[in-house]
Amino acid sequence: MVQSVAASQDPYFSELVQGYWRLVDWQMTPQQRLSFLKQHVDLGITTIDHADIYGDYECEQLFGEGLKLQPGMREQIQIVTKCNIKLCSGKFPHRKVNHYDTSAAHLLESVENSLARLGTDYIDVLLLHRPDALMDADEIAETFAKLHTSGKVLHFGVSNFSTSQFDLLQSRLDVPLVTNQVEINPLNISAAHDGTLDQLQMHRLRPMAWSCLAGGRLLSASDTQAQRIRNELILIQEEISAESLDQVIYAWVRRLPASPLVIIGSGKLDRLKAAVDSLKLELTREQWYRIWVASKGHDVP
Ligand code: NAP
Repeated sequence: MVQSVAASQDPYFSELVQGYWRLVDWQMTPQQRLSFLKQHVDLGITTIDHADIYGDYECEQLFGEGLKLQPGMREQIQIVTKCNIKLCSGKFPHRKVNHYDTSAAHLLESVENSLARLGTDYIDVLLLHRPDALMDADEIAETFAKLHTSGKVLHFGVSNFSTSQFDLLQSRLDVPLVTNQVEINPLNISAAHDGTLDQLQMHRLRPMAWSCLAGGRLLSASDTQAQRIRNELILIQEEISAESLDQVIYAWVRRLPASPLVIIGSGKLDRLKAAVDSLKLELTREQWYRIWVASKGHDVP
């Protein structure tokens, strides 16, 4: 069972978050989607990560179909979803190029669509998915206030934001942003060095870490960097008696002092259980840096 963050913490996030980006690939029936949800909730993984665009705008809908079979499950979960990417898609034939839109009109419409697809009347945490060069922080702040007052969105955060973009938006908001969801894995350590994690630690906010396994590449890619990392992971797996390499990677991500919330990308229950079991693993500083060195291919300066 996942140990949760303090119940007083608002918003509540479970220590591990279930990502639903790949739901279309899992090819589940609505009943199987409900069973999967119930099984990961039983493991203590109650926070769910979505985005309007996942699965070419299908994932929220598929999830909602499962949830509808047992609406009472809604109270047991926290739904995080994202908006502001406009994808070229058969569903939007007039779009000529993928782009970002943080206008009030788009954010309001996007939230209505997510609520309808998910089959819920509120979103626990709404994230701006990507920073938008055309974003007007005052307009976003007004829109967030409307969404909050209407009860449609309880909390707001961002994803893939730089520290200055985070500060800009925060400077216009009456409520604190609750997270920055960023990529963190041994192939991409930039958040630990570009100020992103420092900023979150400073505000005592926990990042949500996406693609902790680099989309599975860390376990399968044959390039020299991935192989170097894997060789080190294998040694550390033995030292800490981990059952699998993914567990060592989750422990490596969680060792960061900003205490990232790991978002799991798998749709396989055994892999979710392995993630839960990894919560008891702890890396020493030296073990953490051995993976850093394997990633960079050189010593620390
Ligand atoms: P990931 O954990 O890096 O990759 C998951 C992939 O690795 C799955 O295809 C999984 O396949 C495969 N895999 C292979 N071996 C595995 C093992 N031992 N354990 C677990 N998975 C293994 O995560 P991700 O799917 O790329 O991202 C996780 C979540 O982050 C997404 O669902 C989404 O919610 C979020 N995300 C956010 C952003 C953003 O911009 N904010 C971007 C990307 C993702 P199986 O399914 O076969 O296990």
